[in-house]
Amino acid sequence: YSPATKTFHSLRPLVALPPISQPLSFTSYAVSLLPNPFPSYPALIDGSTGVSLSYPDLVSQIHSLASSLHSHLGISKGHVAFILSPSCLKIPILYLSLLSLGAIVTPANPAATPSELSRLIHLSGPAFFFATSSTSSKLPCHVTPILIDSPLFRSFLDSGSSLSDPIEILQSDPAAIQFSSGTTGRIKAAALPHRSFIAMTAGFHALRPSEMETTMLSAPMFHSLGFFVALKGIALAETTVVVGGAPLERIMAVAERFDVTQMTAAPPLVVGMAQSEETLRFDLSSLRRVFCGGAPLSQDAAERFLARFPLVEISQGYGSTEAGGISRMIGPEECRRGRSVGRLTENVEAKVVHHVTGKVLSVGEQGELCVRGPATMLGYVGDPEANALAFDSEGWLKTGDLCYFDEDGFLYIVDRLKEMIKYKAYQVPPAELEHVLQSLPEIVDAAVVPYPHEEAGQIPMAFVVRQPGSNLSELEVMEFVAKQVAPYKKIRRVAFIKSIPKSAAGKVLRRELASFALCGSFSR
Ligand code: AMP
Repeated sequence: YSPATKTFHSLRPLVALPPISQPLSFTSYAVSLLPNPFPSYPALIDGSTGVSLSYPDLVSQIHSLASSLHSHLGISKGHVAFILSPSCLKIPILYLSLLSLGAIVTPANPAATPSELSRLIHLSGPAFFFATSSTSSKLPCHVTPILIDSPLFRSFLDSGSSLSDPIEILQSDPAAIQFSSGTTGRIKAAALPHRSFIAMTAGFHALRPSEMETTMLSAPMFHSLGFFVALKGIALAETTVVVGGAPLERIMAVAERFDVTQMTAAPPLVVGMAQSEETLRFDLSSLRRVFCGGAPLSQDAAERFLARFPLVEISQGYGSTEAGGISRMIGPEECRRGRSVGRLTENVEAKVVHHVTGKVLSVGEQGELCVRGPATMLGYVGDPEANALAFDSEGWLKTGDLCYFDEDGFLYIVDRLKEMIKYKAYQVPPAELEHVLQSLPEIVDAAVVPYPHEEAGQIPMAFVVRQPGSNLSELEVMEFVAKQVAPYKKIRRVAFIKSIPKSAAGKVLRRELASFALCGSFSR
């Protein structure tokens, strides 16, 4: 902490990054980090089929695909490429090929409904679409996607060609668009530069352990966490085992079968591993580390996990789509640091600002966390209003999280000031659900808030004001919403009230509603 500037700096050694003026795509950077000759062990393994891909084949497929997409379809620098697919081995190859062309990788959740997807398409303005034969029907009918499970795509991967003229890509050029509601209710298209992924990867590369790592990737690759872990695993010459959306038992079986040494997990997986009797059936003796992120992990869950797996480091990390990685725990000592989310990541600086008075705070004081660093987003696409809210006048990005730092530089996330609900680490923007609820004629007004839940972390709870005389039931409300949103966004609890508490300016008093939800003092 520097009292003169009232800012917090990372205590990790500064990691040297390539000069920003040097043209460099994330793909070229990742390939430059790989040992020469390329490792002969698998780069990627499909956890369900056991199919694997070696590093030489992976790099050759990235070049072949890039060259084919460029010469056959005209995909080039600045084109937005929308991707709708469950996690599979072809996704990291597609990401790295598109990045090498300077195209903007724009993955969406395959669980989204067609109307949710139309909104994301409108926000990001794609020139090209990639889907699978099972997801393509969700895309608007005027769109002709390239199917990644088609013979054409296979022939692109195996073409053996490479780009004749390399495309110059700046580190500040946009690399990806990721969808997030950020600190306000609406979903937005956050554009992240190549520099963001280069900087985050450089941090992991500088501190990588000497042992060979086999990393299990169960976080979905469309989300910022899974997206980065997929790219980082390749750059760090790890073996990445991909398991998409599998139940706990399958994940454990895959971990055992492939001698997984580290896992990236959202809190529900850690809770499941700590609690379920199923876990005890598997030999997880190769597991050394679990990176947990995406949402808060309760201290109780972390302790139960350690009681069951005393030799496994449970390393919490904290970050966001807009900021990239902000903090993480490194090494066994830090990993035992109670409720903290670790120390600031290399090259990241932070300040804590009182969320009402705007005063910049010091060690031990609680306020909104604001961050600056090379991994931060460029901004929301085509949304100057949202950008003005997201950044302050000095370029600090507001996280919307209430936090404090202790004397030793450890960061603690105390609460979420922003409206976002996290159901199993998936973002659920309340404003979207309120919009759906208000479209039901029997509903006069509605507000959606997070309600704590042991397994999911939080569930969306609706407070509903019915039309006078209406007999609308809780179940009917839930079913109405469930038909119109992706399954993870469903309303899972309903309370009827006489009016929604609002501020003088008409803003819903969400924090008040959330605490009323807990003490149950609303008249139904
Ligand atoms: P996303 O953009 O989907 O990654 O969501 C980012 C938000 O998730 C953060 O601003 C936090 O509110 C929350 N979050 C992520 N990781 C953690 C963590 N380790 N502890 C507490 N909250 C977290």
